[in-house]
Amino acid sequence: VSDFRTDRDRDGRLVVFDGRGASNARAHEGRIWLVGAGPGDPELLTLKAARVLAGAEVLIHDRLIPDAILDLAPPTARRIFVGKRKAHHSVPQDEINGLLVALALEGFEVVRLKGGDPFIFGRGGEELAAARAAGVPCEVVPGVSAGIAASASTGAPLTHRGLAQAVTFVTGHAAPDGGEGWSEPVLDWAALARPNHTVVVYMGVSTAAVIARRLTEAGRAPQTPALIVENASRPDERRLLTTIAGLAEAAGEIHGPAVLIVGEIAALADIEGVVDRAALEVPDWKRA
Ligand code: SAH
Repeated sequence: VSDFRTDRDRDGRLVVFDGRGASNARAHEGRIWLVGAGPGDPELLTLKAARVLAGAEVLIHDRLIPDAILDLAPPTARRIFVGKRKAHHSVPQDEINGLLVALALEGFEVVRLKGGDPFIFGRGGEELAAARAAGVPCEVVPGVSAGIAASASTGAPLTHRGLAQAVTFVTGHAAPDGGEGWSEPVLDWAALARPNHTVVVYMGVSTAAVIARRLTEAGRAPQTPALIVENASRPDERRLLTTIAGLAEAAGEIHGPAVLIVGEIAALADIEGVVDRAALEVPDWKRA
């Protein structure tokens, strides 16, 4: 056992020295970790994520993950960036899936680090499916999702006795309309318009106008409070408190990643805004 050691060849492959000379036999079975990096603040990383990062041999990551988190991987770990860079597109999901599986089959400990939580609009489900299909062990480490972080930093609880009995996470991303370009998000507006209910919209800044219009048409009061939190948990975090009626205009001021939090509880945010908090003391749903 004392003869046993590992190294890498010029291609970065794991080489095992077992006393009888080098071989390319795997030192161990490779594995994929789908790790949530949280919303940006390194302190919001889980201890498990930090431990798994420290054991990474290959680190495959998106944009906007701070160096303080990336640097938890050993300096010897190979870093592969697969996110969007300015005008360039991100690496297609199929290619990422293939890369994860190929590296794990080579015997590497592969850490796929994703913003927020891997399973909230993070396509982690597709990566897990690819790993399962290839018979590669894959474990998921949850992360603090952006909506949760935005709620915490503004002091607007996503559920709250008397104001919100449920919370729904939706994507505001517009589905392709099959021809003319982009249409609008396909969502169950009637369900989202229920009062006494919080809606957290990811990827919804550019579609804020249509989201506000559809919610209102479906019966949600235009004066329902709405919160926009940009760069939640990061040093440049910005919060805007408005209403559904003011959502589109407020969204026009946002340039970074942001979540929209729509619902009565948004009025509890500890920030100044145009919301009439007094009007919320007797919400309509209580009379219904
Ligand atoms: N898996 C991620 C979400 C990925 S989708 C998570 O759980 O948080 C990308 C969207 O997440 C962005 O368009 C934005 O709506 C939101 N987002 C990511 N990071 C954010 C942050 N720090 N502050 C606010 N919104 C953020």
